[in-house]
Amino acid sequence: MSEQDTELETHLNEQEVFEPPQSFVDQANVSDPSIYEAFEENWPACWENAAGMLDWFEGYNQVLDESNPPFYEWFTGGKLNASYNCLDRHLDDRGDDVAIEWIGELGETRRYTYLDLHKEVNEFAAALRGLGVEEDDVVTLYMPMVPELPIAMLACARIGAPHSVVFAGFSADALATRMNSADSEYLVTCDGYYRRGEIIEHKEKTDEGVSGVDQNVTSIVVDRLGDEYDHSVQERDHDYDALIRNHTGAEVDPVARGSEDMLFLMYTSGTTGEPKGVQHSTGGYLSWAAWTSHAVLDIKPEDTYWCSADIGWITGHSYIVYGPLALGTTSVMYEGTPDYPEKDRLWEIVDTYDVNQLYTAPTAIRAFMKWGEQYPNEHDLSSLRLLGTVGEPINPRAWKWYYKHIGDESCPVVDTWWQTETGGMMVTTLPGVRDMKPGSAGPPLPGVDAQVVDESGEEVQSQGAGYLTVQQPWPGMLQTLYNNDERYIEEYWAEYSDDQDKWVYFPEDGAKIDNDDYLTVLGRVDDVVNVSGHRLGTMEIESAVVGVEGVAEAAVVGGHHEVKGEAVYTYVITEDGQTDNEALRERIITAVEDAIGPIARPEQVIFTPELPKTRSGKIMRRLLEDIANGDELGDTSTLRNPEVVNDIKVNASDD
Ligand code: ATP
Ligand code: MG
Repeated sequence: MSEQDTELETHLNEQEVFEPPQSFVDQANVSDPSIYEAFEENWPACWENAAGMLDWFEGYNQVLDESNPPFYEWFTGGKLNASYNCLDRHLDDRGDDVAIEWIGELGETRRYTYLDLHKEVNEFAAALRGLGVEEDDVVTLYMPMVPELPIAMLACARIGAPHSVVFAGFSADALATRMNSADSEYLVTCDGYYRRGEIIEHKEKTDEGVSGVDQNVTSIVVDRLGDEYDHSVQERDHDYDALIRNHTGAEVDPVARGSEDMLFLMYTSGTTGEPKGVQHSTGGYLSWAAWTSHAVLDIKPEDTYWCSADIGWITGHSYIVYGPLALGTTSVMYEGTPDYPEKDRLWEIVDTYDVNQLYTAPTAIRAFMKWGEQYPNEHDLSSLRLLGTVGEPINPRAWKWYYKHIGDESCPVVDTWWQTETGGMMVTTLPGVRDMKPGSAGPPLPGVDAQVVDESGEEVQSQGAGYLTVQQPWPGMLQTLYNNDERYIEEYWAEYSDDQDKWVYFPEDGAKIDNDDYLTVLGRVDDVVNVSGHRLGTMEIESAVVGVEGVAEAAVVGGHHEVKGEAVYTYVITEDGQTDNEALRERIITAVEDAIGPIARPEQVIFTPELPKTRSGKIMRRLLEDIANGDELGDTSTLRNPEVVNDIKVNASDD
């Protein structure tokens, strides 16, 4: 590196605030700073801006019905259809534009224009009806990243049948639990798929799952693997292709759904406790997905936009399918992993398709960092205009790496905080309006009343830490937990709503507020280490550790300590893969002491080649806690990489 480069690097390392590039602001969908004030003054009528992004069959007569909190109702009286909004209304102006650009792991591609997508969605909707699916029947979609997944979602939406997508990587048991919980009698699945070139069979797992379902099931099987894979065929199975052939050219009128009619169920990933059937509405949810895609992702119809999440998570629902398609853009859908066949796969796709926006997760960005900048450097990424991240806090070092090596210091980065339950983004910078601060998600979106409060629910003033809350309802909010209104109140509203006049939503995350209105989300509130009576957020310690040169990833948990009650245990993946480095250990300890104080001094720094992760890529801290304490390991069934637990145990005991 030249001296000049080193100087630039140092400058970037120290910089805390980044202005959005003027070239971005000049073309941004939202660039007027008065939007914050205007929305606040005009709340809740401001949300007509969101509803106005959609076509309604019948106009709503009330923006927000607050008569039965916390069962808030949005755009009541209005009627609409999500598939109509994502397809039909685009046909005249851009029927021949690409809606879904699908890239298979082995290099195959499939391109659906809006006309193509409309045609197949209609045919599949007719097929579903033909099999007996009626309005309000829950259809379970247990599918990997194949185009038939968004097609099935939109076909369900077209006939008013809520879908419940179960991530393909989940187990047979997970499928059975979710189908039973939703009383779902219809299932769309797939023979199998590819992962790093290997065939992953899916049908046998499906069959095993269905054997644990209480009701009779009718299933449809998509043929992803062709002749390569001969899957079992049960009496309940119908072949997807045959159904489409039998309904060629069929048209199905989009059903007029009430704004508050359920669009879908999404069971949360289950990093904590029993899966919760998060229920989302049609009008409020779709308005939220569309408005946030417009305001935060800056999506325009002529863009090629890519969210690299899996549709099995809420991120894929809102920001691969519903938001982008409602706006009539081209949404890229990639089947595989980012390191197959090579570690430049994502950059090759950005280059080939001239992707304008990339929305991914901190866990992926940390992997890219570890692999090195040579991979993005091999490709022309100049088509990119905006970068986004979601899923976990992103530490400033990873943020800056993303900003520099992917965005070439000319793309705003939006760090978006939200959850399955919120339907869409809640806290993030508006990229054409607000400065960015690496590590801090940003201010709440206009019209979103997110506040940090203390234990008694009082607002924490500037520069304090506490609990993140949302003090006013918003259109994308969950309606309830399926069939369980009581648990809905219990989980999200009981904590801070002490009198009946004021209902406060509690997402169970901790956050810090800066001297302006910027929020740094610290992660789940149950992720704290209690050292001698001091409650330390694990995220904050992790952020200090990951800031150390040479550290690729880190997880912090509490382990029993005779004197202190709990002590800080730090698990570290190094950039060069080494698991023995005394100097680095010292630097990590110093960095934590400097950032938080001697009280947070790590008791142990354990170098490990990998960390246990859920299938959505989040670190599973409770298992690390079990390891730290030498306890029996809890349930490892939702882990993506169960084998690493033993490696870490070995490393830890070597220590
Ligand atoms: P479960 O609720 O089933 O235990 P989960 O909370 O991981 O799983 P999601 O709804 O997918 O399931 O994730 C939302 C959570 O992810 C948030 O509550 C927060 O803890 C974390 N998160 C998401 N985005 C961000 C972000 N930008 N910054 C910090 N944390 C984030
Ligand atoms: Mg959650």
